[in-house]
Amino acid sequence: MDYSSIKRIKDIDVASRRVLVRVDFNVPIKDGKITDDTRIRAALPTINDLVTRGASVVLMSHLGRPKGKPEQKYSMEPVASRLAELLDNGEVLLTDSCSGDGARRVVFDLRDGQVALLENLRFHAGEEANDEKLSRELATFGEIYVNDAFGTAHRAHASTAGVAAFIRQKAMGFLMEKEVMALSKLLGEVTRPYVAVLGGAKVSDKIEIIENLMSRVDALVIGGAMANTFLAAKGMAMGSSLVETDKLPLARDIMARAEARKVRLLLPSDLVVAASPEAERGEVVSIDKVAPGKMALDIGPASSESFRELIMRAGTVFWNGPMGMFEKAPFAEGTLSMAKAAATSAGYTVVGGGDSVAAVNQSGLDHRFDHVSTGGGASLEMLEGKILPGLAALMP
Ligand code: ADP
Ligand code: MG
Repeated sequence: MDYSSIKRIKDIDVASRRVLVRVDFNVPIKDGKITDDTRIRAALPTINDLVTRGASVVLMSHLGRPKGKPEQKYSMEPVASRLAELLDNGEVLLTDSCSGDGARRVVFDLRDGQVALLENLRFHAGEEANDEKLSRELATFGEIYVNDAFGTAHRAHASTAGVAAFIRQKAMGFLMEKEVMALSKLLGEVTRPYVAVLGGAKVSDKIEIIENLMSRVDALVIGGAMANTFLAAKGMAMGSSLVETDKLPLARDIMARAEARKVRLLLPSDLVVAASPEAERGEVVSIDKVAPGKMALDIGPASSESFRELIMRAGTVFWNGPMGMFEKAPFAEGTLSMAKAAATSAGYTVVGGGDSVAAVNQSGLDHRFDHVSTGGGASLEMLEGKILPGLAALMP
């Protein structure tokens, strides 16, 4: 889907208008304290822009997984305090609920330049149910609707898809715009060669992305546990490695289709194996030498090198899925070497996916990518070619 017709906040005159903004303030909280405020800081450009231009701003987000009713540990209180510290004007009015009289009073009393934050959307069962009544009520809280929460754009909830149907003027915030631009690029005309590097735990999680990218890329690099299933499909003995035996025919089918389309499909040539993920070190073996009782937990150095060469020469690189069990130091090398290769590639480089992004951030190389998608599930669904309800709802 072509999202280029969606308005940006710069396209809308917001002076003296009340703007309802869906943000992603789903931050990690431990003992009432925010342990990482990245997501709050990420929303500041949009909030500050609206405030500077004289709008009053009503923010809304979910936090954690409360089950449709209030739960103190998921209150937005710490978020409101932290946001107040980060904002230039230093004040954030927190409502007692995302709906009802209390919220309405705070919202309707806002003056230009003031910021309110609705209490956790998921304290209301209507949020995840995309309830029309809640959507209509939220819509009364803004004359303009802005969605800046890419991470929930793949969910049709009241604060994403629902509310947008009842507000005429709508736009995407800066964060959303950045994600949509970067990911749309991967689905349009790209600089070639176009290389997709896919890894992670399961083929079954990545089938749709493989299918959608197959017709676009020049080369498909497969690593991680996913490669085990492909290697097994080629007849390799994989010892006690994670293999999805029910996906062997699918792996064969994907390999056959890649060949028919002349898409290069690269699998590891060597692996790092161990008796268990708890092992203190692994052993590098060729793919035809995985002993019974040994499991492949990372790609080997020869594989890293051949993947690296391809990535270095690529015009466009999309990477999703770690090359090994990178959470364990002895099996992190393959993933780190992919991060280094993509970071130094002259091509346009994008990484997406919760664990992959964590690995890239851990490597400290995140700023050397053209785009690090914070979207998790949303970025994957976009690359699967699915329509994101939160974005579709913003179309004029
Ligand atoms: P993302 O979140 O980036 O989309 P996935 O969730 O698909 O990535 O996969 C990440 C997980 O895959 C990690 O927890 C990692 O430990 C696991 N993994 C990768 N390679 C292997 C392997 N060879 N054996 C077992 N687990 C693996
Ligand atoms: Mg994951």
